[in-house]
Amino acid sequence: MNSDKLQAAQRLVADARRIVAFTGAGISAESGIPTFRDRGGLWTRVPVEEFGNVYGLRQLLHRDPARLARHLSEIGRVLTAAEPNPAHRVLAALERHGRIRGVVTQNVDDLHERAGTRAPIKIHGDILTWQALDSDERRRLAHPELKMLVANLARVRTLADLLMAAPKTAAGDFLRPAVVLFGEALPAEELAKAEAAIADADLVWVIGTSGLVEPAAGLARAAAARGVPLLETNLEPSAFSPLATVSLYGRAGVLLPQVAAPILG
Ligand code: NAD
Repeated sequence: MNSDKLQAAQRLVADARRIVAFTGAGISAESGIPTFRDRGGLWTRVPVEEFGNVYGLRQLLHRDPARLARHLSEIGRVLTAAEPNPAHRVLAALERHGRIRGVVTQNVDDLHERAGTRAPIKIHGDILTWQALDSDERRRLAHPELKMLVANLARVRTLADLLMAAPKTAAGDFLRPAVVLFGEALPAEELAKAEAAIADADLVWVIGTSGLVEPAAGLARAAAARGVPLLETNLEPSAFSPLATVSLYGRAGVLLPQVAAPILG
């Protein structure tokens, strides 16, 4: 680690009073949740055309329900087994110290809230919130309920098994995770909250994101365009690197505690 860069990052964080963290899959990688694009990540193992959008998922439901269920079960198993890592905890501690005003995350896991961040803004939805296919009804699953669902999905062989295992509303309507798939719009309320938080930020700290997923990445780019400093911490250079005031490359779970050390001790 270049110590000049670390000190520059520490100064940016120390001088800021309204930091907004903008996080992506990389912050949860050390918690055991693979990112989408890195080696071993989801889209390197399953085709995005089949699994990343509603049309592909509907086709799979009829063509190969066991494969779809295995895939959903695997994602669910990884997400429910993960625990917050030091990077999630540092952001929660900086919020308690009054430095962080908001955490805008592209992640659908619940690691920010479990680390203590009060109300992360989840612009790509949330794996624990499920929405009815044919109405606006939503239901929040408890962690044990999601774990049970994951175990049931692993046993699915036929479409009938899958329909039986799927969570439903009281009226029998099927529920799906309220996560944003390719081609779907971001949830309007969360998007408005994210825009407002970023508009008020005096530092945007992008962590563990390639900056390739739109329109999410545009939120952080807009801050840089207004002259708000951008601090980047990522494993490798990203689409944010050319815009960043300071870039630190390495693991979030190692870098974040170092950057916040002057404040958190
Ligand atoms: P991405 O997969 O496009 O990029 C992740 C970035 O994190 C990469 O640039 C990588 O170099 C970096 N990275 C990997 N390990 C890291 C570490 N230990 N420390 C710091 N950086 C690390 O992810 P994205 O930009 O978030 O976009 C992918 C989309 O898929 C987003 O919507 C994302 O939220 C979603 N997704 C979510 C989860 C989750 O909820 N945990 C997991 C995978 C993908």
